[in-house]
Amino acid sequence: MKTCKKCNKEFDENLTFCPFCGAENADRKLTYIERKKAREEDTEFMLSKASIQQRDIDSAKQANLEDIKAQKIGDLKAEQKKSFARIFAGATLMLCSLLPAWLLLHEDINPNLKWVVIVVAFLVVATGASVLISDIYITRALKEMEKQDFMVKKVQFNKGPMFVYSGALYELVAKNTCPCCGTEMHIEDLDNDIYIVCSTNRSHIYKVDKEAFIESFKDKIEQK
Ligand SMILES: [Zn+2]
Ligand SMILES: [Zn+2]
Repeated sequence: MKTCKKCNKEFDENLTFCPFCGAENADRKLTYIERKKAREEDTEFMLSKASIQQRDIDSAKQANLEDIKAQKIGDLKAEQKKSFARIFAGATLMLCSLLPAWLLLHEDINPNLKWVVIVVAFLVVATGASVLISDIYITRALKEMEKQDFMVKKVQFNKGPMFVYSGALYELVAKNTCPCCGTEMHIEDLDNDIYIVCSTNRSHIYKVDKEAFIESFKDKIEQK
């Protein structure tokens, strides 16, 4: 651990830049090239720690159930429909761009125009493909989760792990800040277990008692 010269918060000693305020924390003044390299190394370090590993779990403390909540996203059927609609739109987009592009290329037209057509068609296909791939993944994951209550799974990159309960989709979110350092926390899953993880220091990790969490979740649902 080292302490930021500017904001006095503690962070991992492998980092050069403070993850809280962005201040440079090197022993001496860095050159432009050194600074650039340090930024790359920081990013790499953060990414390498961006998913749960066995050694993190070994040191996990017991989480407080007050620190996690299930937020309803919507009905599972509606979410599945949305995903299907996006797959359909992605596929249509790809076809719609390929067809005119293919036709145009067989016409006797200006070679510069041909290039424009190829580039535009390529961009549209790439966009369509990325929509398709992520939504095919989401559709599959939802299907799998549908079969089993409380199967915890990360479905979308920018959202917490989710689960399905009596036809509705819920996202797990962290409610409080890290008891160790006061920064934001987020939820991760591994082997269908739930962990609350500190967003700046991954050794601040808390395992959720899943059985107890399910109990309290069901109680809250029934009270409504
Ligand atoms: Zn700082
Ligand atoms: Zn922390």
